Amino acid sequence: MKEMNLQVLLASRPQGWVTESNFTIVEAPPPEPGDGQVLVRNHYLSLDPYMRGRMNEAKSYATPVGIGEVMGGGTVGEVLKSNHAGLKPGDKVVGNLGWQLFGVAAGAELRVVDARKVPLTAYLGVLGMTGATAWVGLMEICKPRPGETLVVTAASGAVGGVVGQLAKIHGARVVGVAGGSEKCRYVTEELGFDACVDYKAGKLAADLGAALPGGIDCLFENVGGEIFDQLLARMNPFARIAVCGLISQYNSAPYPLKNFGSVLTNRLKIEGFIVAERRQRWSEAFKELTEQLAAGRIKYRETVAQGLRAAPAALIGLLKGENFGKQLVKLI
Ligand code: NDP
Repeated sequence: MKEMNLQVLLASRPQGWVTESNFTIVEAPPPEPGDGQVLVRNHYLSLDPYMRGRMNEAKSYATPVGIGEVMGGGTVGEVLKSNHAGLKPGDKVVGNLGWQLFGVAAGAELRVVDARKVPLTAYLGVLGMTGATAWVGLMEICKPRPGETLVVTAASGAVGGVVGQLAKIHGARVVGVAGGSEKCRYVTEELGFDACVDYKAGKLAADLGAALPGGIDCLFENVGGEIFDQLLARMNPFARIAVCGLISQYNSAPYPLKNFGSVLTNRLKIEGFIVAERRQRWSEAFKELTEQLAAGRIKYRETVAQGLRAAPAALIGLLKGENFGKQLVKLI
């Protein structure tokens, strides 16, 4: 019997925290590819914090997912049928086919990847959107110079882990902020950061003071809220801040910043960025990340949920920090 497609749809918009009742899972026949399109069997789905924003009604930099629509998301899988001259069955491709087992996409929108040298999952992490995010924010906004101090929050995560390792390669002293002693140990012992502050240890201000005797020259901000506020107070004159994410705020009201005056007094340069709008730098990013990965200078960790039905709970876990490294869902 032909395998049915399984799809996760957005059933309702979350008020505050996401719950499993915000999703519904349906079966449907696999779609047929049209002209220039290919049919792909997805092997892995990437779960990412931005998905929380897409569940809201309000239009942000991207259009929200409609009620009853398949949740969007990055995927890596195998071409089954092709109506596109550049792709053939068996090719492994990265695309945005969403939370489903099978999807169709224009061949031109897919990136062919080689699974012989690097595991397929790496193309959703270090060699995918999150790796590009780390590289773009670091190289275009932070631009760390040797000897400078860089801080990255959500340091053990998919973006944060790469930011810190790349910044070390470029000569910076790197301090991570992460939740819990296990994540902090990983960040210093396995990823090689110079220090890590566990923000759950209950003495954030004192621990940041001890880890940052010379202040901060570059902040790669992934979290926002109180952690960001405390880091603002430790910025050096003319320091840079790359605002990549504010995950602590995605399910709640914005946190009022008490130390924003630091922007004026320290003449800081703050720049937010959306990696999808900086695609012109992705090939350069992947070139350096591929080299560093092959040389063993970049390491990564993954948390893999099993099966599409586990995706809603895994996204909820990601938003609560239950993931350790890149959160994926195995679909095959
Ligand atoms: P991660 O793999 O880092 O997973 C999310 C982590 O965020 C959790 O593991 C948790 O780590 C941390 N976290 C969650 N809630 C809180 C909280 N309340 N306070 C502090 N930390 C929290 O995810 P990614 O690496 O994929 O994403 C990291 C950030 O980058 C996100 O903010 C995301 O939105 C942003 N991003 C931005 C892009 C852009 O184009 N601007 C593109 C991609 C990602 P811990 O246990 O340490 O708290």
